[in-house]
Amino acid sequence: MTLLQARGLTKAYGPTPALSGADFALRAGEVVAVMGPSGSGKSTLLHCLAGIVRPDAGTLTYDGRDLTALSDTARSALRRTDFGFVFQFGQLVPELTCAENVALPLRLNGEKRKAAEARAVEWLARLEVDGTAGKRPGEISGGQGQRVAVARALVTAPRVIFADEPTGALDSLNGERVMRLLTEASRDTGAAVVLVTHEARVAAWSDREVVVRDGAVRDPERIA
Ligand code: ADP
Ligand code: ADP
Repeated sequence: MTLLQARGLTKAYGPTPALSGADFALRAGEVVAVMGPSGSGKSTLLHCLAGIVRPDAGTLTYDGRDLTALSDTARSALRRTDFGFVFQFGQLVPELTCAENVALPLRLNGEKRKAAEARAVEWLARLEVDGTAGKRPGEISGGQGQRVAVARALVTAPRVIFADEPTGALDSLNGERVMRLLTEASRDTGAAVVLVTHEARVAAWSDREVVVRDGAVRDPERIA
């Protein structure tokens, strides 16, 4: 089943388009690596697919719904319930403990603190960083922080995880560990993953690869 479908997406921030007619489709549960050189439009594609950036033209449907027709409020609500995000730098809140960081998306969705933090601790354990629960992000390593960030992305049981260079700031050992845990969690929960990376070793964890070049996407499968 096709969960997310984009056709002819264009987006320009200035005179040169960042995206020019990108087609993309994501099936439920699959892990797709979006590859391509720096500046080719990978992040812009991810931001459009996630409803963070408004495309100038093109169509975008999620779960049969026209994403471009939703109000800002409806789109933010959808992001909070259905999508999870992992960035290159964990972007954890420095004042909160790791358990509180992971519980935050649940709290924003209205869950009570105790239940949210209990679930957060379970996810920290699944990501093999339960020892960080009571610590603040400044007290843990970069590799641990990125696993906490993955736990935070997964705690709401999203249907799509958007990961933009999730291993970009890690050494290869920690990078491999994050990718193993992320793809295991995707398999266990059925969450699809859109994985932006320029590293072949990272893309090797995906089910398939699409290549972005000069704002256009080459998708060998071109699923309908
Ligand atoms: P990639 O992720 O492949 O490195 P990006 O999508 O970040 O590529 O960028 C594609 C092009 O759009 C680049 O030329 C970049 O400089 C430009 N761009 C991206 N985001 C912005 C922005 N917020 N404002 C202006 N230009 C941008
Ligand atoms: P504007 O600033 O042009 O009035 P909006 O207030 O409609 O834009 O949207 C706020 C933000 O949400 C914008 O930065 C835009 O990137 C994003 N956005 C708006 N509509 C869409 C859409 N249909 N799909 C994806 N992103 C959108």
